Amino acid sequence: MKKIFFILIAALTVSNACKQVKTKSAEDTEQTVAAEKYVGEEPTKPEATEVYEPVPPKVTVNGNGVPSDAIILFDGSGFDEWIHVADSTAVQWHLNKDGSMTVKDQAGFIQTKRNFGSVQLHLEWKSPAEVKADGQNRANSGVFLQSRYEVQILDNNDNDTYVNGQVGAIYKQSVPLAMASRPTGEWNTYDIIFHAPEFGMSGKKMKSGTITVIHNGVLIQDHYELKGTTEYIGWPKNIPHGKAPIQLQDHRDNSRVSYRNIWVRELD
Ligand code: MG
Repeated sequence: MKKIFFILIAALTVSNACKQVKTKSAEDTEQTVAAEKYVGEEPTKPEATEVYEPVPPKVTVNGNGVPSDAIILFDGSGFDEWIHVADSTAVQWHLNKDGSMTVKDQAGFIQTKRNFGSVQLHLEWKSPAEVKADGQNRANSGVFLQSRYEVQILDNNDNDTYVNGQVGAIYKQSVPLAMASRPTGEWNTYDIIFHAPEFGMSGKKMKSGTITVIHNGVLIQDHYELKGTTEYIGWPKNIPHGKAPIQLQDHRDNSRVSYRNIWVRELD
């Protein structure tokens, strides 16, 4: 009797071990949604790994490349979506006849009226054709996600500077994978995928933010995991925060950087 009992226990143990191996194999395929229905069996038909929901929403793109579900932040018609950071007053930057805007020296940063979390952000920028100054003082601006995390904008053509502060850098944190600027005076595109950091109730950071940047079609930041805020002096900080505006920088040295065609898609 005792012998039969031990044989039964051994058989059950082997059976469970086989199931675990099969479950792990299903996980490895990364088709977890489909596989969850078939834990313990290896699918034998193609239909077994097909899923039909959720159905993705349809998004169309207009002639200017703007997705139908995007929030247009700047299309050249005015500064309706923006205010000055310092005092929340109307934007004093230059509104140009060609549908762009240009940083007004000493006017200060501008920011969106809306707060954002994780986003897909598109914007176009150019340095002035007339070159003045060197290093960090040559056409320096920047895009600040959630008012804290800067993707650098700088005229780096024949203008060296520290590489973690060059064009396309996550300022003082991540050197870009390539320098993909167009010639000075021509328009550049930035397409940015930003996932906001997450903070717990205690204020502890639970998940780092990430930034991906495509510059003129070239991947220059590949899902970079933020260490914290992008500080000019000092180490990154991780003070808890929620959704916050997108800012554009006035570096206060006659940078004359221009922007156009700015839109954003919310990802949360
Ligand atoms: Mg800057």
